[in-house]
Amino acid sequence: MSPTKRNSSDRIIRAAVQKMESLQQAGLQMIAKAPKLEGKCPHPSPLPKGEGTDVSALPKGEGTCVHPSPKGEGTKSGRVASAVVQEPVASAVDQDPTDPRCAALAEVARDVAACTRCAELVGNRTQTVFGVGNPYARLVFCGEAPGADEDRLGEPFVGRAGQLLTDIIVKGMKMQRQDVYILNILRCRPPNNRNPSPVEAAACREYLDRQLAIIQPEFICCLGAVAAQNLLQTDTPIGRLRGRVHDYHGIKVVCTYHPAYVLRNPPAKKFVWDDIQLLMAEMGLEKKDEG
Ligand code: URA
Repeated sequence: MSPTKRNSSDRIIRAAVQKMESLQQAGLQMIAKAPKLEGKCPHPSPLPKGEGTDVSALPKGEGTCVHPSPKGEGTKSGRVASAVVQEPVASAVDQDPTDPRCAALAEVARDVAACTRCAELVGNRTQTVFGVGNPYARLVFCGEAPGADEDRLGEPFVGRAGQLLTDIIVKGMKMQRQDVYILNILRCRPPNNRNPSPVEAAACREYLDRQLAIIQPEFICCLGAVAAQNLLQTDTPIGRLRGRVHDYHGIKVVCTYHPAYVLRNPPAKKFVWDDIQLLMAEMGLEKKDEG
């Protein structure tokens, strides 16, 4: 390349970097692409290295998320709408119709996409949010229901809470988001991010059970009271469900606080880390330094 051309391409790269930095300073961390999951196999493609926001590792500093929170949109569940989201990992690239679990999950995803059981949710949803991850995962994370970002992008935990969940997986557990499977009690976003009703949770249960039957995880980590109480069919508060191992049809279940709760209550991070260490010990994963 001639020196003139190199100078000009350097200038273009510098300008692009400056533009990205100014967008980052304005609060934008990721530009998410919207996957079309309906009727397709929901498996993940590997995340590019270093993606996501530069936040402190879960066991370390206090700050867990640098994303701005839109005023007035937060709810108890933390299913907020935000311009800053976790990069979705699902993509058509990972479709492998010859893989039996992939094919089986795709069939359930088709049923979910066509589901009209909950009239209020059907009228409110942009799309269904099936689940994402490794169909052979040892560990499934179960949340509550999609929020605005998830409804828009078609993948669970892609908003601010999702970024913290990714930090838990990557920085806390030293795993990759695509090593696990992530789903919710509900596959449609409840209006105004209200809690799922018992009728809606019961209507969606068939899909949860079918997904679990295909994935056959050894462990489930319930994120928050709604997930834990619905999965385990109990009214026991999350504060008493966490910190120990439950059984769900032979699957070991660890419950912890919802990442959105941790974002609002940073001291709860310690309890989540305790629960994650319990989970890691059960999974035979090496405990990492808290730094
Ligand atoms: N909160 C949840 O419980 N699930 C999501 O998918 C996103 C936020």
